[in-house]
Amino acid sequence: MKFIIKASIKIVLIVAVVLQLTACTDKPVNLSVARESVKEYYESGKFDEELAGVIREAKIKFESAEVKGNSVIIFDVDETALNNYELAEEMGFGYVYKMNKEWNSEMKAPAIEAVKDLYDYLLARGFKIIFLTGRNWPEYEVTYKNLKLEGYAQFDTLITQREDELKLNATEFKISKRIELTEKGYDIVGTVGDQWSDLEGPHHGIQVKIPNYLYQI
Ligand SMILES: [Mg+2]
Repeated sequence: MKFIIKASIKIVLIVAVVLQLTACTDKPVNLSVARESVKEYYESGKFDEELAGVIREAKIKFESAEVKGNSVIIFDVDETALNNYELAEEMGFGYVYKMNKEWNSEMKAPAIEAVKDLYDYLLARGFKIIFLTGRNWPEYEVTYKNLKLEGYAQFDTLITQREDELKLNATEFKISKRIELTEKGYDIVGTVGDQWSDLEGPHHGIQVKIPNYLYQI
């Protein structure tokens, strides 16, 4: 009798789990619930905790990397060096072109402190730094100034996307620039970015993936 009861409980549990899994795969999470859970993750300190771990691991990897005169680390800008969370929230965690352009032109984005800390560490080790962003050429100046204002005082160059490069997707654009930089004589020791399109392809060196739950490019 005991055995039958135990077996029945097991079957009920298995059915419950299967039903739960089916429910999970069949229906998406409601958008407002997803938005709230992302907001909570960012605002409760959990995001910062995850990021701190990423930066800790990155430093360990770079610690043993050799620094030569042409050694460079490539940093992405948005959600890597600079933090647009406030804008994301204002846009209701969607995307509004006009608001984005206004925000960029006002140079409001603060540094992501943990990433800035990695930048300082790499500079102190003697690496060159290059910023490579998918922002377009008309935003070169405001981006340059925003970086400087937020303490990214020293870098070799900032690369924005030219008009003739707009046909390239994010991954193709970043790869093409890394190839150009390598041909110019740079040795890319690492890439730091919040999107896999910042990090994939040839000449990436040590990849540092900054977490981003706001959007995917
Ligand atoms: Mg980015």
